Amino acid sequence: MIFDSDLNKLAGHILCSILENNYDCKHADVVVDEDGVYVDVLFNNSSISTKDFDKLQKLITKTTTGAYKIEYKEYQEKKDLFEEFDNNFIKHKIQNSNTTSTIAFGKYKSISEKLPFESTNVLKYFKLMSVGGSYWLGNENNEQLTRIRLIAFSTKDDLDKYIDEYNERIERDHRTIGKNLDLFTFNQTVGSGLPIWLPNGTIIRKEIRNFLSDLEFKYGFNSVCSPVLASTELYKISGHWSHYRENMFKEIEVDNDNLVLRPMTCPHHILIYKRKPYSYKQLPIRLCEESMLHRYESSGGLTGFERVREMTLEDTHIFCTPEQIAQEVKNCYNIIKDAHKGLNSSIYQVDLSLHDPNDKEKFHNDEKMWKNAEDALRKVLKSCKINYVEKVGEAAFYGPKIDFQVKTTLGRIITMSTIQLDFLLPEKFDITYKDSNGEEQRAVMIHLGIIGTYERLLSIILEQTKGILPLWLSPIQVSIIPVNNDVHAKYANLIYDSLRKEKIRVNLDDRDERMSRKIRDAQTSKIPFQVIIGDDEINSKKISIREYGSEDSKILDIKEFIKLIHKKIKDKK
Ligand code: ZN
Repeated sequence: MIFDSDLNKLAGHILCSILENNYDCKHADVVVDEDGVYVDVLFNNSSISTKDFDKLQKLITKTTTGAYKIEYKEYQEKKDLFEEFDNNFIKHKIQNSNTTSTIAFGKYKSISEKLPFESTNVLKYFKLMSVGGSYWLGNENNEQLTRIRLIAFSTKDDLDKYIDEYNERIERDHRTIGKNLDLFTFNQTVGSGLPIWLPNGTIIRKEIRNFLSDLEFKYGFNSVCSPVLASTELYKISGHWSHYRENMFKEIEVDNDNLVLRPMTCPHHILIYKRKPYSYKQLPIRLCEESMLHRYESSGGLTGFERVREMTLEDTHIFCTPEQIAQEVKNCYNIIKDAHKGLNSSIYQVDLSLHDPNDKEKFHNDEKMWKNAEDALRKVLKSCKINYVEKVGEAAFYGPKIDFQVKTTLGRIITMSTIQLDFLLPEKFDITYKDSNGEEQRAVMIHLGIIGTYERLLSIILEQTKGILPLWLSPIQVSIIPVNNDVHAKYANLIYDSLRKEKIRVNLDDRDERMSRKIRDAQTSKIPFQVIIGDDEINSKKISIREYGSEDSKILDIKEFIKLIHKKIKDKK
């Protein structure tokens, strides 16, 4: 699929010309991005919706088949170009950009760099995609504009392929699935980017939390709980205040102290370590916490559960001796491997993220520290025979890291897990242990993110599964549907109680609805098992079950069914 940005730019201008010829409006901007082109338009006394798309599509085709000659003109003086337009938006763009030329065809004229086309007839394969609102210059105090999106390709095959992928993306959009399954919500009165987990979503989160908790126990971590706030002083010592401040919320003044919402748990865990002296025999100390964090994201960057301002990270830290680094990084790698296995996601690529020696501003300036830390991680990756890619400039400001990348179903590469080696924070906080000679030595710190934040993980899971969750994560695992609410209620309730006793999440659908409707609703909610109760089931003392996605029913007795469910949950299927 070859994306031609010039062709999309032309398509945007043609759309503007059609709109200005047929509606009382003027265009403000034509912008090409990875999803094609969008035009921002100010409508006076008229508006547009997707219902107009057929008509617009035809009008565009008419313009392109009409083959208007396109003329470009270059201006030496900005003021001459400026005088060519009445449109204030375009005047503003001329003043604030380097564009010095115009594009014109038919009655239409705008500013644009020269495109490699002489006629409008090059636009053949295109589709109007969406219509929504925007503000001039992205500022909500400015004029409200209408944003219309369009995509163009030079072949029909490419256009068809793009539309298929687009539909697939919409179907997998975690925001839509989250809404349909009633998992989470946002409320402007609570605040932008502040996620609210609903009962169904909270079940998923708790299941993942329990799963991780078992893994942390297996790998020797101890849970702690620490506050979501800390004095600004703490982040001044850690260096976050100078390196990470633009991602933090503003300070809160409390009595004579300044507090800040924490963006990371590391300094808290360091102080937990530092509360008493350790001998080398007591190390490593492995701490974990279900840790609520706050990070400032610009409102434009907020995307459903993927980018939020409050998030919960399963945050873990290890304090060890330099000799223990290899063993501890291996331990971290194993826990990550187990977590991915349980969550049915595979690691696509392992990156060794290194510092950029030329960027003294972003990275802590201590070449010796970087060399030691980077060599240590390289050595572990080699000894574990892990294939990896080195990425210069991708390290954290305090140290290098190993990032575990996952490829989403739509081909995006995202970091899900990370192991970070840190020699800097132990310096800053002066954390030590006593070696075998009783001498004070500097401890090493490892930051481990097993699965990232719960919010982001949920968005990935929903995208990968299209909301068809494995049984262990499904908020409702079984829906019992009596054929007749009155006649079959007693037996249905009996089955309901037996499943509840086994801690199976079950719903008894005794609404006054037709059975076909109940079955359809269970399908739409993607409930893994439907149990139908009718005369036959009562007489045979069995149940009829149907698994999500299967056309066939099975007759089982209740004990067999419970055994089947427990096995699937244990296997994380
Ligand atoms: Zn950390």
